[in-house]
Amino acid sequence: MGFQIAIDGPAGAGKSTIARIVAKKLGFVYIDTGAMYRALGLFFADRHVPLDDEKTVESFLPEADVSLEMSGGVQHVLLNGVDVNNRIRTEEAGMAASKVSTYRAVRKKLVECQQEIAGNLDVVMDGRDIGTVVLKNAPLKIFLTASPRVRAMRRMLDLQELGQKADPDEIERDIRARDRQDMNRTESPLRQAEDAVLLDSSDLSVEEVTERILELVRERRSE
Ligand code: C5P
Repeated sequence: MGFQIAIDGPAGAGKSTIARIVAKKLGFVYIDTGAMYRALGLFFADRHVPLDDEKTVESFLPEADVSLEMSGGVQHVLLNGVDVNNRIRTEEAGMAASKVSTYRAVRKKLVECQQEIAGNLDVVMDGRDIGTVVLKNAPLKIFLTASPRVRAMRRMLDLQELGQKADPDEIERDIRARDRQDMNRTESPLRQAEDAVLLDSSDLSVEEVTERILELVRERRSE
């Protein structure tokens, strides 16, 4: 059995940045599950499937194949064999992902796929339900959060780096809407697993959060 690190938390808490660095330092595989939900969101948006219509979403689901590929040390998400990495980072893809991820059939499909990928590997996996559903037995679970304003400012910088226009108030509104949607859904709502360690990164640097997690890994591995 590999050593699994589950990192959950709301949008923009810095999960993927931290998870990627921790994985690199430990030589673990990093799996970004949000990217998989975003790819599925794109699949439905491209086909103009009404995202509110669960039955129709479900009927299209067998036609969507989401897989991951590592190349040059970077995770690439493939939608029906096509690399969609450069299309998934928009607010639109995020909102579509957040909408379709409320459906049981969608979650079942991706959760099975994620558990299969993790297998017996040493992994760092980030998402919303990793500690509560996907890797329930992970020896280290982190719930990473930060205030909505701090998360909005970070997201704004990310988007600016990608050359996209960004208004912090609008992003904060989107973040709060996405939090509400993720925390209030019936299927695997976003919540801290009972055995997860809570880390609030509002006033911590990336290095400080990373170091805290590495410290926890050292502790858990020596137990
Ligand atoms: O983490 P990221 O912002 O890329 O995730 C996009 C959306 O996918 C989230 O808002 C959430 O609704 C959904 N998601 C999920 N379960 C996961 C990962 C992401 O429901 N494990």
